[in-house]
Amino acid sequence: MPRLKESCKQDLKLRINIVDVVSRVATPRRAGGNRFKALCPFHQERTPSFHFDSDKGFYKCFGCGKSGDIFSFVQETEGLNFTEAVEALAQRFNVALEYEEGGGGPSREERSLRQELFDLHEFATEHLHQAFKGAGDAAKWMRDYWTANRRFPAELADEFKIGLADAQCSGLGAAVLRKKFSEAAIRQCGLFYLYDDALLTVQALKPRFRGRLMIPIRDHQGRVVAFTARQTALTPEDDKSREAKYVNSPETPIFTKGNLLFNLDRARAHAGEGKPFVMVEGQLDALRCWSVGLKTAIAPQGTSITEGQLLLLRRYHTELECFFDSDSAGQKAALRLLPLALKTGIEVRFLTLAGEGKVDPDLLFLEKGLAGYDEVKKGAFGAMQFMRRYVLPDARGATAERTQGAVREIYAVIAAADSELLRRRLLSEIAPALGALQVTPDVFERDFAAFLAKGGRAAATGPAASPNETALGDPSRDAAETARTDRPGDSRPAPPPDDASTPERDLLLLVLHFETLGRALAAACPPEWVEERLPSGALLNRFLAEFSEGQWPGRDHLEGLLETDAERALVASLLFETPQIDDPAKVIVEGLTRLRTRALAPRLRQIDTFLAQAATDNSFDATALLKERSELQRRLRSPLALAAVA
Ligand code: ZN
Repeated sequence: MPRLKESCKQDLKLRINIVDVVSRVATPRRAGGNRFKALCPFHQERTPSFHFDSDKGFYKCFGCGKSGDIFSFVQETEGLNFTEAVEALAQRFNVALEYEEGGGGPSREERSLRQELFDLHEFATEHLHQAFKGAGDAAKWMRDYWTANRRFPAELADEFKIGLADAQCSGLGAAVLRKKFSEAAIRQCGLFYLYDDALLTVQALKPRFRGRLMIPIRDHQGRVVAFTARQTALTPEDDKSREAKYVNSPETPIFTKGNLLFNLDRARAHAGEGKPFVMVEGQLDALRCWSVGLKTAIAPQGTSITEGQLLLLRRYHTELECFFDSDSAGQKAALRLLPLALKTGIEVRFLTLAGEGKVDPDLLFLEKGLAGYDEVKKGAFGAMQFMRRYVLPDARGATAERTQGAVREIYAVIAAADSELLRRRLLSEIAPALGALQVTPDVFERDFAAFLAKGGRAAATGPAASPNETALGDPSRDAAETARTDRPGDSRPAPPPDDASTPERDLLLLVLHFETLGRALAAACPPEWVEERLPSGALLNRFLAEFSEGQWPGRDHLEGLLETDAERALVASLLFETPQIDDPAKVIVEGLTRLRTRALAPRLRQIDTFLAQAATDNSFDATALLKERSELQRRLRSPLALAAVA
């Protein structure tokens, strides 16, 4: 990920009024001074409890507790990560961004290469779309193919900027050269074949896409990052990929196929409660859905579905309907999706037509429009019914051996589920699905446990998905998760206590609102008293270190000290409070005393217990322990104070 310069984050915060940011999704009302309120965009409510402050640049909802700044607001309401949110805001409010050079992130050159690749793709999209709308024979042929052969409305081509690459890719190479894109961008955009040692000339630039219908592929932010090209009668005989029905852009610095879902940029605005995403197999299927009014359709890029794609999807909505061709390739792809969905917490249903009839989603929607969707929704299968249908086509004729094999296949899929609750629910559904009604669910639970113990977990993604596809996310993390799930009650540290009323949080609040006392607190508070597993504790120690170094940047310039979204939200929330405190030094000492007691008292109790047990043992020399005890008692009793610091 490119790393943004700290200074531009601060710059954005100074320039952008949070009122303008919130206004995009909620209507602000004045609440006195710099304060505003609105109906909360994060939870359902009738009276506004979402407050924000145009001066401080923070928001807090007193209903659901969400809090943060302009960045977290855009992240949460638009489903972007931090960098994407910063970029979106910069673009919206016309602020130029700068990126760090070196230090792990991409250099300025790499950064501008990415931006140039986006620009080049936008340019190519427009160029090829204009070619599609042009006057030549190839353009006429392609438009006819679109409306008569594929039976898509002409407006849909405009909406999605469908393009034409004729035998010479509609002169894209020359146009890109004229436009003076950098050599690096042209070499790496994936739209051309070019020998590494070849000079950059129109002749050397061989187009990848020839005689094809061009579908621009957009990422979830709506930026064109690649193309899919459909073979047509115009595809020339001497084309390298003549036989391929679809040719895709190769992976480039801006395009990773396993992290992209076609049409997600539009579909995400339409998905929500009761409106699941609908996964179809191809981009043209998704366009068909869109054209009949099913706006939540998405398609994987290429044939395999990856964990990365489902994690991306889950940012927006967790319900998914899978509607693939009823042929065996489609059904296999659907079965591969299932364990990944269970693993990523996506609730998936499988759309089918009643009966065993063949279903082609494209044809169905073309003939019946949205009514086709209602029909397949009626025949939808849950996960268990779908598996049963797939692994055991005919239960009545099944032998015991066949059934056992089927159950093991089902176990392998269930093992992928991360949630214990979900596993148990699925196990309880096996008996009814197999018609084995006399078998109680606990039998399957014990049997499943035995399956896992025998190493079944390793086969969790077994027959369903090939290693390539499941590993696309992050293989090392997969392995770590597997290990973790296998050993409940392992050696992970106990979760830290709830952060709501800890002394760490209180002290953090105080140093943020009474910054002049920060140095004194830093001098009086040893870092080991602070519980660093608490977000507030980690921040407190970090802040105190800055104070003691004399480096405290001031509470309005904390960007560089905040590392995670949770930290940003916590600080935002604390800055929003207005503590009514007459003597902050006294309250700080109280907090410090609580920290000290919590740090030292357990050891004192331990010593007391030990001494009591050892009281009857004459040979035991308690001198050292007694000394430690009196030292602890002394420390616990001595009054704490903040030294006066200039
Ligand atoms: Zn709320």
